[in-house]
Amino acid sequence: MKLSLKTLLPARDLGWNRVRAVCALTTCHNKLLMKYVPGSRIGIFVGAAWYCSADCFAMASRGTLFSLSAETLVEMPRNPRLSLGLALLSKGYLDEDQLRFAMARSQREGLTLETTLVECGLATEKQLAAARGTQWGYPVLGQDAVSQSVAVDLPLTLLRAFFAVPLHYSAKARRLVLGFVYRVEHSLLQAIEQMTGLRPEPCFITLSEFKEQMQRVTAVSGYEEAAVENPGTATQMARTLGGFAVETAAREAGFSKCNSWIWARLVGKTRTVDVVFALRPTASAPQPKLSTAFSETVASLG
Ligand SMILES: [Zn+2]
Repeated sequence: MKLSLKTLLPARDLGWNRVRAVCALTTCHNKLLMKYVPGSRIGIFVGAAWYCSADCFAMASRGTLFSLSAETLVEMPRNPRLSLGLALLSKGYLDEDQLRFAMARSQREGLTLETTLVECGLATEKQLAAARGTQWGYPVLGQDAVSQSVAVDLPLTLLRAFFAVPLHYSAKARRLVLGFVYRVEHSLLQAIEQMTGLRPEPCFITLSEFKEQMQRVTAVSGYEEAAVENPGTATQMARTLGGFAVETAAREAGFSKCNSWIWARLVGKTRTVDVVFALRPTASAPQPKLSTAFSETVASLG
């Protein structure tokens, strides 16, 4: 008979991996609570910090939420050196007269250059996407690539706000391809990486492809999103988050900032909830002036 080390050891005692730990909230009164490692049934981890209860977690998250909401956007907007017009010129889609005409008209009518170009039949959506790709140095995806159904655990609120849509997502293969319409939003890429550990691969697609693909995006099972439009003060946000922590029986939580949104993730045993707090009214999304046609698109996406 072959004896393994395991059989010589006493049956697993529930107490052996029990360690005495204190709640990371300094004002917590439950100094004697235990935490079980691993597979704790109680408390919430935020990184290495452990909170004994949803209440303590909520109290502590007030500070995090406060600093995240007070944080001014120091991040310099990364704008491409080449303007869209010059990118279109360089690709030979337009000549200088056409560009001049379109620019004057877009200014006069208060529309984006893109809208004017499409409305006047001077450029196609495909050409605009190709020009965006040149501007930003990212690939443009062909129509055939934009046809897969994708199940994600990412907040659609943020994706919609930045006109970004997952084209391919595999948690197993650690791969996420994100299609953007107007610009690559780096704060979104960073926030996704922070929350999921995945570094998204950006590319450009057309507005029509974006709308089509958005219809194919679903949530993975057990994933929910809560968008809070008027989140109030950090204390109110913390209270909201505490409520969700109780509801999801959260064991882990994480925070990140994406442009003017705070994205908090609560992970329970069976459910993951992303709570997205809009720090500014969503009407001031980082898009340039939208034409009525585009605004309608945005509204219909909402
Ligand atoms: Zn506590």
